[in-house]
Amino acid sequence: MTHPVLSALGLTGTESGTYLGNSEWSKTRDAGVLEPVNPTDGQVLAKVQASSKADYDTIVERAEAAFRVWRTTPAPRRGEAIRLCAEALRLHKDALGSLVALEMGKSKPEGDGEVQEMIDIGEFAVGLSRQLYGLTMHSERPGHRMYEQWHPLGLVGIISAFNFPVAVWAWNSFIAAVCGDISIWKPSPKTPLSAIASMKICNEALRKGGFPDIFFLFNDAGTELAQHFVDDKRIALVSFTGSTKVGRVVGERVARRMGRSLLELGGNNAMIVDASADLKLAIPAIVFGAVGTAGQRCTTTRRAFIHESIYDDVLAKLVAAYKQVEGKIGDPTDPANLMGPLNSSDAVDAYLEAIEAAKAAGGRIETGGARIDRAGNFVLPTIVTGLSNDADIVQHETFAPILYVMKFSRLEDAIALQNAVPQGLSSAIFTQNLKAAEAFLSAAGSDCGIANVNIGTSGAEIGGAFGGEKETGGGRESGSDAWKAYMRRQTNTINYSDALPLAQGIKFDL
Ligand code: NAD
Repeated sequence: MTHPVLSALGLTGTESGTYLGNSEWSKTRDAGVLEPVNPTDGQVLAKVQASSKADYDTIVERAEAAFRVWRTTPAPRRGEAIRLCAEALRLHKDALGSLVALEMGKSKPEGDGEVQEMIDIGEFAVGLSRQLYGLTMHSERPGHRMYEQWHPLGLVGIISAFNFPVAVWAWNSFIAAVCGDISIWKPSPKTPLSAIASMKICNEALRKGGFPDIFFLFNDAGTELAQHFVDDKRIALVSFTGSTKVGRVVGERVARRMGRSLLELGGNNAMIVDASADLKLAIPAIVFGAVGTAGQRCTTTRRAFIHESIYDDVLAKLVAAYKQVEGKIGDPTDPANLMGPLNSSDAVDAYLEAIEAAKAAGGRIETGGARIDRAGNFVLPTIVTGLSNDADIVQHETFAPILYVMKFSRLEDAIALQNAVPQGLSSAIFTQNLKAAEAFLSAAGSDCGIANVNIGTSGAEIGGAFGGEKETGGGRESGSDAWKAYMRRQTNTINYSDALPLAQGIKFDL
């Protein structure tokens, strides 16, 4: 029987995973089948037909044709298309939020929050469509004018991770669309239904509004088609969100063909709590940061550095808060639950292996440390103490709710330890000391793409540019001027004089 959450969005449980354009979903039946699993009970939710190479070629050909029209459509008109998508998503927020919760396993409020992020970036993109500004410069030559303009880039390939199955697509495709690009999405094989539903909602809104196809979708049963996508010269920009391991390969392959890539990879985010911190804020921020989405956010808090003078108190408060969360672990579609399951049984294995590695390295399990004995991929949120920052397991992103708590005495040591990991995504300090906050934010402070004061590491707003340094990949997407990654910059110099002076005063008299 089709799950009611699927039926609410018009999904039948037997889906095509390929949107070919022209209101056409592929009928391919011989390219493999994806079987997304409900992480709450281990049952297969639906069968999704994967895409063939022929489907892919059709998509790219149609996307190229669409680009030739879309690139000259006025940007504010492109914004109107995205306004309709955001409106449609608002109407379907509850249903799509439930599907995200069901298929990915995050709590219902977080599923709804993810759809809200799509709406927010849609509205941001509408405003942006009138603000794709270039600079004007003063020419060094008389009678000359110089300026720059931003042109659409072309086809944007989006490869997304399972943990944000819809928002990452919207971040990329809505901004790309107002920039005049056409996007092609390959979602995670673990969450194809959320992708199909998002595509149906937005493409229906575009069709009703009289807009052409600007979004395409394919699903890969393995990784062959995805690799072909990465290597395809027709894809001007590959925006990849996922693990550092896969992202490194994607980045190298795109660079080899001189394409552009935008990499949003793993994090190993830390929070520093100094002696002056307001613990009424710091404790819930650590708990939400470490336990929210069952530790499966790229910005999840994985390390906490606590000042030695408050260490025992903070640890006791954290353990007590974790015990409260334990009473609210369950079906993520039930809004009463704070934490759902891990997305896959592989993730449970990775969690258990990390716990064993932590113990073997001398770590002490303060709370949690075990799988929950029930159907589905449920585990206990875990706090580990007694390890140093350079322990192998602490250096590594385990995509699960495991928090390593460590002690510090001098702020500069805590900042140095926070930075002493290969990743550089998100970071936070809890302090009421202005000097400590400013030191943390200074050039000698946090080396991450995101650095917060008295706010946790996770839960970024769409208005800022999102991304991180080092092995997090260096990409920036979402707000601020991240749109520039989706356009090509052109510098124009216009001579309105009767002479032809050369730059740098060079003489070339014939
Ligand atoms: P993953 O790397 O396993 O998969 C990501 C995507 O890559 C999927 O769509 C997958 O099918 C695809 N893929 C796999 N092999 C490929 C190949 N050879 N060529 C092209 N594509 C390929 O990641 P995941 O488990 O889905 O997601 C979790 C990871 O994503 C974590 O490391 C997390 O930190 C990271 N993440 C980062 C951000 C960010 O913005 N920095 C956001 C969300 C998730």
